[in-house]
Amino acid sequence: AEKVKGVSKKSVVEFGKVDAKLLPTVILVGRPNVGKSALFNRFIRRREALVYNTPADHVTRDVREGIAKLGDLRFKVLDSAGLEMAASSGSILDRTAEMTANVLARSQFAIFLIDVRDGLQPLDLEVGKWLRRHAPGIMTILVMNKSESLDDQTGFFTAAAGEAYKLGYGDPIPISAETGLGMAELYEALRPLLEGYMLHILSEKESQETQDTISSEDKECKLPLQLAIVGRPNVGKSTLLNALLQQNRVLTGPEAGLTRDSVRADFQFQERTIYLVDTAGWLQRTKQEKGPASLSVMQSRKSLMRAHVVALVLDAEEVAKARSSMKHAEVVIARRAIEEGRGLVVIVNKMDLLTGKQNSKLYEKVIKVVPEEIQTAIPQVTGIPVVFVSALEGRGRIAVMRQVVSTYEKWCLRLSTSRLNRWLHKVMRRHSWKDQAAQPKVKYFTQVKARPPTFVAFVSGKTPLTDTDTRFLTKSLKEDFDMGGIPIRIMQRAIP
Ligand code: GDP
Ligand code: GDP
Repeated sequence: AEKVKGVSKKSVVEFGKVDAKLLPTVILVGRPNVGKSALFNRFIRRREALVYNTPADHVTRDVREGIAKLGDLRFKVLDSAGLEMAASSGSILDRTAEMTANVLARSQFAIFLIDVRDGLQPLDLEVGKWLRRHAPGIMTILVMNKSESLDDQTGFFTAAAGEAYKLGYGDPIPISAETGLGMAELYEALRPLLEGYMLHILSEKESQETQDTISSEDKECKLPLQLAIVGRPNVGKSTLLNALLQQNRVLTGPEAGLTRDSVRADFQFQERTIYLVDTAGWLQRTKQEKGPASLSVMQSRKSLMRAHVVALVLDAEEVAKARSSMKHAEVVIARRAIEEGRGLVVIVNKMDLLTGKQNSKLYEKVIKVVPEEIQTAIPQVTGIPVVFVSALEGRGRIAVMRQVVSTYEKWCLRLSTSRLNRWLHKVMRRHSWKDQAAQPKVKYFTQVKARPPTFVAFVSGKTPLTDTDTRFLTKSLKEDFDMGGIPIRIMQRAIP
């Protein structure tokens, strides 16, 4: 469940490989002596800084530029210290405004520094206003520098943070440019912004070369699909597996019919290689330990985690007879698959037992009840595919594989930021908030990850997305981009 909240540690974008020209630019702003140069130096370490002169109105100012490294993040950093945004009189220098605007125009993000020891100064407020006026589109992170020697015994720190909040740039992150305190928090704050930007920029570029740098995960989607066939004993998993192996070209493993003793039994379905996850192992185990506990083998997180798509097999006859079509163990496994971010396909086997006139009522019941109960069990994901088959008669095998592959493809889907933002614009108008003031301002929407699709909504203002809002966005994404049946994750980030 922790995974839902954060992006996995592995960077989606391999920043190191990206052309420096494409790197996002972060400008350091703040009144003199707050520590801009110190932070700049920490970012670029011993690497070379480029100093260039920006003549404006007979004044020459130096702007330092360098490639910053913060964890696995790379970005261009501009130190505006040379711009001397404040004159001795204590107001922003007008004559540098134009030149500064030029520098600002080249930046997508800003780190706004204040000095925690000084508290909030009038000049800080001016810098804040100035930034808002000259660069309304810049996403800004507020930091309280020189926080290294502060503990909150006196409440001073909380007071300073509370005061800093007045700047309108959200909660400040305490850092120390000198000691490196708070760099992890700064990383966490910058990362989704930079990643969103990178994906945005890269998705606009069409060259194959750039495509390759977008994500190694797109390529992974063409890699073998890892399928786990799970279910209680005797629902027909081995029979289904044999049917699939007979129909398709088996790549490894022994002859069909002996699968339960095999180490691996991988096969090819329409150009796609399918790896069966842990099949031999659990088939054997479920055979040995009949009884309610046996499903627990497959419930092990490890097996599920290795699968991309989980095919949960149910027995149609049991469904027809029982009051609820899914046994507790089956509900648990279906939920767990979704919670772990896997694609899920439900297979109702032994439909042949429900043919014939005398069974038509039962047949109809099964067809109606299973999708309904899946939906009830897993309300957060709509449109989980349900396939009705007879493994024994070999019917429905292609339907099973089609759904498995289609689920996998949705799971790997990557939507460009420009497309998502066009969509966002429309979808926000589609939803009516009873209280207009309660409508969150979603400024920007980007996919930070695939497998499963994970999105970040950048929300400005004081109204964050509620659970209802997130559900609405999830539902709309699913409908508009045909992403039913797979888990989708939406995170939010506050921006000014
Ligand atoms: P700038 O004018 O904003 O570029 O500020 P500088 O980087 O030149 O820093 C101004 C002063 O604050 C220098 O004396 C720095 O050594 C000091 N300074 C910068 N960062 C820190 C910090 O994190 N902690 C402390 N204690 N001093 C700092
Ligand atoms: P597993 O324990 O889930 O691997 O189940 P098996 O594949 O071993 O099947 C259990 C029993 O159900 C066997 O007797 C199979 O012949 C039977 N069976 C499997 N699939 C079907 C089917 O589609 N229709 C019918 N009527 N029986 C089936």
